[in-house]
Amino acid sequence: MTTTIGVLAVQGDVREHVAALERAGATARPVRRPEELAVVDGLVIPGGESTTMDKLVRAFGLYEPLRTRLAAGMPAYGSCAGMIMLAERIADGRADQQTLGGLDVTVRRNAFGRQVDSFEADLAVPVLGEPPLHAVFIRAPWVEDHGPDVEVLASVEVDGASHPVFVRQGAVLATSFHPEVTGDERVHALFVEMTAAASASAAVIG
Ligand code: GLN
Repeated sequence: MTTTIGVLAVQGDVREHVAALERAGATARPVRRPEELAVVDGLVIPGGESTTMDKLVRAFGLYEPLRTRLAAGMPAYGSCAGMIMLAERIADGRADQQTLGGLDVTVRRNAFGRQVDSFEADLAVPVLGEPPLHAVFIRAPWVEDHGPDVEVLASVEVDGASHPVFVRQGAVLATSFHPEVTGDERVHALFVEMTAAASASAAVIG
C-alpha cells in the first residue's frame, strides 16, 4: 500500500510539494476540507505567510480538525511558514496569531533580518548523508529554543551563534527552508519514510 500524504492547500506552494512527494514515492493530494484531511496518513504544511495561513485554516473549518489530528500523532512536515504553524510558541508573531502546535519549539519569524531576507546555503545534514543539502531560505524563521525531545538535524551559523533550521520531534519534521524548489527530494523522502513507519506501527497496534 502506498503512503498517502496531504499538502495543506489554503495558501503557498502546494503544487511543488505535491510533485516532490510523488517523486519521493508517495501518493500526494491537496487538502482543503476536513474530509480530505481525514483520509491522509501524513500532512505537509507549505511555506507562505503564517499569519494569513492561520486565518485561512479557520475560514476553511480546518483549525480544530488539524489540531485534533496533530495531537493524535499524525505525521506532519512544515516548511518555513509551515514550521511556524507547527511551533508551540512564536517570537515576533502577530499579537493574535495562533499556531496548530505539535513541535516543542519557539520559532522566531523573519529571523534572519531584512538584509538577508532571502538567501541560499549548503547545509551539512548528517541524517541525509552526502552531499550537503542546498537550502533556499525566503523570509525564514529559525528555532529560537526547543524542548528535550526535539532533535536538531541542521543549523545555520549567524554571527558566531548556531540557529537550528531543520528539526524533528517524533513524527513531526520542520525546515526553515524550502526543499520543494531545489529538485533534491531527500527531505520529502525522509518524511515519506517517517509517515510510512508511523502507519505500519499503527496497523500493528490496531
Ligand atoms: N515570513 C513568513 C511568515 O512569517 C514565512 C515565509 C515563508 O514561508 N517563505 O509566515
